Amino acid sequence: MESVFTEQFMLQSRVPAPLKHIACKVVAGERILPEEGILLYEKGELGFLAMLAEHVRVRLNANDVFFIRNFHIEPTNICVNKCRFCSYSHHFSPRKWDLTVEEMLETVRSQDENVKEVHITGAVHPEKDIYYYEGLLRKIKSLRPDLHIKALSAVELEYIIKKARISYEQGLKFLQAAGLDSIPGGGAEIFDEKIRQEICATKASSENWLEIHETAHRMGITSNATMLYGHIENYGHRIKHMSLLRDSQDRYGGFNAFIPLKFRNSNNELSGISETTVIEDMKNYAVARIFLDNFPHLKGYWPMIGKPLAQLSLSFGVDDMDGTINDTTRIYSLAGASEQNPWMTVSEMKSLILDAKRNPVERDSLYKALGN
Ligand code: SF4
Repeated sequence: MESVFTEQFMLQSRVPAPLKHIACKVVAGERILPEEGILLYEKGELGFLAMLAEHVRVRLNANDVFFIRNFHIEPTNICVNKCRFCSYSHHFSPRKWDLTVEEMLETVRSQDENVKEVHITGAVHPEKDIYYYEGLLRKIKSLRPDLHIKALSAVELEYIIKKARISYEQGLKFLQAAGLDSIPGGGAEIFDEKIRQEICATKASSENWLEIHETAHRMGITSNATMLYGHIENYGHRIKHMSLLRDSQDRYGGFNAFIPLKFRNSNNELSGISETTVIEDMKNYAVARIFLDNFPHLKGYWPMIGKPLAQLSLSFGVDDMDGTINDTTRIYSLAGASEQNPWMTVSEMKSLILDAKRNPVERDSLYKALGN
C-alpha cells in the first residue's frame, strides 16, 4: 500500500524532486527536517500536502475523529498585558467583565451531567492570585468531582506563580491538589522573541511557556500547544515554533494536541493585517500534521474558523474537532469569527464528521474513547 502511495508521488512529474524526496520520507515514517518543513510551506501545492498529511493522520488515528462534551469559563477580560493581536481583553473589547466565583459556579451547575470537561482561561487580572484560583478549582471539583478541569494557560500560570514567589513545580502541585487536571495550550503565540516583542511584549516568554509545560509534563499533567499564525510571522518562524514543540515532546511526551490558531483582525491593534486565505489555513494544518510526527492529535478549533472550515480541515490532517462548547467562549467571537454564539449539539457534531467520511468518536479529556 505504502509503495503504491510513494509511486503515485514519484510518478507525478509536476512535483519537484525535493518535494518527492520529502514525500518518500513521510510515507516511510521518517521525520522531516525544519528546512523541509519550510519547503513544504513554500512549494507544496495544496492537494500534495493534503495527501501527505492524510497519510500521517491515518497512521496515527485511522479514520477516527474525536470530540468532547465541554464548556468554557472565561473568568475575566481585565488584563495586565496589552497584546496587539488581542480582541478579547478590556483594552479593546466593547465589554469588560470580572465574574464572581458564584457566577462561575452557576455556569458549572447549569451544565448537564454528560459534560466531561471545563476549559478555564481568560485574561491576566492584576489582582487575582494563585490562592484565588486554588479556591475556585476546589469549589468546582466539590460540585462536580467527575469534571475534568483544564485550566489556566502558561501565561496566566506564570503570572500567579511568580506573584506567589514559588517555583513552577510548587505552583502546579498546589493547583493540582485543588483539582487541576490538565493545562490548555494558549499563550504560545510564536516562539520567537523578536516577534513577541512586536506583538505581545509583556507576556510570558517562549522559554517560560515551554518550561511551565515541561514542568507539568514531568509531573504527569498533560497539556496542549497552540500557534498563532497569519500576522507578522513568516514560514521560518512557524517551523521554528513547531521544532521547539517537537523537541519538547521528544523529551517528555506530555502534549495531547496541537492547535493552530488563525489570527483574526477585528477590534485589535493589528487590524490592518489581512487575514489568511482558506488555502493558507488548510496548508498550515497539513504542514503541522506532517511536521509534528510525535503529536498524537491535531485540532480544528471550530469556534475560531467556523464549522464549514473545521469540517474541511478533516481532509488536511485534523482528527480532533474540540467540543460542543455550549456557547461559553467569547475569545474568537470578539475577534470577528463567524461563530458569534459557538454551540454544537452532539448530533450536529457527529453528522458533520460523518459527512466528511470519518468515524466520530466521543472522547474524554485524555482521548479515551467513550463510544461512537
Ligand atoms: S492575549 Fe491574553 S495576555 Fe494578551 S492581552 Fe489578551 S487576554 Fe491579555
